[in-house]
Amino acid sequence: MPNFKCKMTKFRSIFWHRRDLRIEDNIGLFEASKNSKTLIGVYILDPNLLNLNKTTSEAKNWFLGKSLLELQRNWEKRGSRLLILNGDPIKLIPKLAHLIKAECIYWNKNIEPYEINRDKKITDELTEEKKKVYTFLDHLIVNPNDIKTNSDEPYKVYGAFYRKWVDIINKTNLSNDNLIQIDSTPAKIFDLREKEISSIKNSDLNYCIIRKSKVVYDLISSNRFNNSNLCPCKPGESDSIKQLNLFIHSGTINSYNQARDIPSLESTSTLSAALSLGTLSCRSVWNGAQLSKTIAIDEYQLNSIDTWIKELAWREFYQNALLNFPELEQGPYRKKWLNFPWENRTDWFKAWENGITGIPIIDASMRQLKDSGWMHNRCRMIVASFLVKDLLIDWRWGERFFMKSLVDGDLASNNGGWQWSASSGMDPKPLRIFNPFRQASKFDEKGNYIRKWVPELSHISTPDLLSGEINSLERKGYPKPIINHKIQTSIFKELYSRIN
Ligand SMILES: Cc1cc2nc3c(=O)[nH]c(=O)nc-3n(C[C@H](O)[C@H](O)[C@H](O)COP(=O)(O)OP(=O)(O)OC[C@H]3O[C@@H](n4cnc5c(N)ncnc54)[C@H](O)[C@@H]3O)c2cc1C
Repeated sequence: MPNFKCKMTKFRSIFWHRRDLRIEDNIGLFEASKNSKTLIGVYILDPNLLNLNKTTSEAKNWFLGKSLLELQRNWEKRGSRLLILNGDPIKLIPKLAHLIKAECIYWNKNIEPYEINRDKKITDELTEEKKKVYTFLDHLIVNPNDIKTNSDEPYKVYGAFYRKWVDIINKTNLSNDNLIQIDSTPAKIFDLREKEISSIKNSDLNYCIIRKSKVVYDLISSNRFNNSNLCPCKPGESDSIKQLNLFIHSGTINSYNQARDIPSLESTSTLSAALSLGTLSCRSVWNGAQLSKTIAIDEYQLNSIDTWIKELAWREFYQNALLNFPELEQGPYRKKWLNFPWENRTDWFKAWENGITGIPIIDASMRQLKDSGWMHNRCRMIVASFLVKDLLIDWRWGERFFMKSLVDGDLASNNGGWQWSASSGMDPKPLRIFNPFRQASKFDEKGNYIRKWVPELSHISTPDLLSGEINSLERKGYPKPIINHKIQTSIFKELYSRIN
């Protein structure tokens, strides 16, 4: 925990936004504003996190750019400003602190290995310069240090993790009243003097006034998600709050239990990007769920709300997993998977990426991802199983493609989801093979989802659409299945038995 020597006297401080693109209920920002005489915000466009081939996607860049615009306005409304710098934070944060003579630097911690290493270097440098660094845990409801087994080990199984997680929250009695509202202290955010702003502009810090910033503009202006309704995740703090309120007050949360698995329905919160980039706090979603419980009218609704809370716990489970086992980023948790003889056919991978495998539910899902930047959870599981267990392609190829495509691409959740689907992760059940036709029949009974995303099949009868047995005359350019599910999965099982 931070040492609050700064508390008594008010200092000149910087608050560094990272995955917390909001003003409200932001623990680090709240502490910074409480303890500072002068406070400005900074966001750094870190090239390591903006690599379109690896760490981000067009959709995520759009979400980020739009959210930064709103954050900038929110800082200005409160009498200060958000500087947007472009470059390596290891160089830029110490330089900025030096230039404006900031004594204290605040930020909320992240759990990804790259960020942990980067932040350590920055902390060391700032400390050497006699600056104070204060860091906080903001993006998880439960502190990972508190969530250990009786033998003080990290949890490796979700079920046990979940029980402990809920138990801790119930004991700490998190409620609406405990939400930290930065709004209640706007007078404590002060701007820099004009002279200081000019000295930043005249330095080599790549200072951008956001509305004129080329880099931020590039994220948004040429982006096909801009001014469109393509993506169901809505960027910015105010729209994220609206989205949460809608999910709760429209009653969608009350029927989550069954409806969440039907990809043709708008039955999930679509808050994943907001939670990943922090336009919404994890505490507000927890509190939202608690509020829903007070207005639920029966057991079914209460169960639905609990099921949604369990999804929030999956997010925290994977964040804890990556924090405790950073090697997950590189490969399988179960090391025997390193020896799996992948076939890695690039033509099959291309067909999968482009939604032209000839298997309707797979193609519908991949086209939803391509067109909207988001994919329904049920479909993520189906296409991941298909890539690994039918196409015999290394799950890390799929993981990378998801990061390059998803608006909510998040190392911990994405890696967790892929390792779960590949059976290479912590989950004790080792082998999950999804039959895409059975999945389609169960979760897209009427073929509505397939017809929406693969419109060239809209004339096909529902049974043929679900079974994938489409007459060649009716295909009209839609490809034949690239593989036979039965044959491929038996090959998979045989290869799998060799690594056991
Ligand atoms: C192969 C694969 C890859 C995935 N990649 C990502 C990713 O990069 N980023 C991401 O946020 N989620 C990922 N998920 C998890 C899940 O699919 C999405 O979080 C969910 O579909 C987002 O939709 P929603 O916001 O409507 O979720 P809701 O159903 O409304 O759930 C509420 C929130 O809980 C969290 N959540 C729900 N399910 C999961 C889960 N299985 N794992 C972790 N968190 C969960 C999300 O933050 C979500 O916003 C992946 C799942 C799989 C199987």
